[in-house]
Amino acid sequence: MAAAACCRVLALMAIMLVAGRVSADPDMLQDICVADLASAIKVNGFVCKSNATADDFFSAALANPGATNNTFGSLVTGANVQRIPGLNTLGVSLARIDYAPGGLNPPHTHPRATEIVFVLYGELEVGFITTANVLYPKIIKKGEIFVFPRGLVHFQKNNRKVPAAVIAAFNSQLPGTQSIATTLFGASPPVPDNVLAKAFQIATPEVQKIKSRFAPK
Ligand code: MN
Repeated sequence: MAAAACCRVLALMAIMLVAGRVSADPDMLQDICVADLASAIKVNGFVCKSNATADDFFSAALANPGATNNTFGSLVTGANVQRIPGLNTLGVSLARIDYAPGGLNPPHTHPRATEIVFVLYGELEVGFITTANVLYPKIIKKGEIFVFPRGLVHFQKNNRKVPAAVIAAFNSQLPGTQSIATTLFGASPPVPDNVLAKAFQIATPEVQKIKSRFAPK
């Protein structure tokens, strides 16, 4: 009886260990593994380069506001493994997002990370949508934080007449971004018109009109 109870406890602990993993990226196997971004060898992440320096762990990329004079009035500046090779295998990264007045970071997902944003200045209308199709909306302002759970569609909109900015942290060295509209209407080769027309319950000319706005550069 005691042995059976013991086994149940061990089984429960094993389940908790598996379910309790908080890192989205795999665990590291050494102190550092600075990415050799130029290597032709393909692995899960990047192979380690041999002559790492402190600069591989440094970036000033987020020090200044990004240019927001674009279609959406927002700019995401990534500070991930592609810019900071020392992040390879460490399971974290940052980004800075700047918003012009009225600017939108359009609905998108990060397949490999949860995102947590801290408002540097300004005010934003933010939200994520669960797989049950429930929107979790919130207004956040300077000094406040909001969390976008891994993989869920989310957005940020600056409804004010002054700029806004956030720092975003991710539990992945390369969270990846799929922007919903660009993914569906700007893919190359293109998603067939009839797929999008039926999916969105609109006519083909409307599909083509939207596609023209998201044509691959
Ligand atoms: Mn995001």
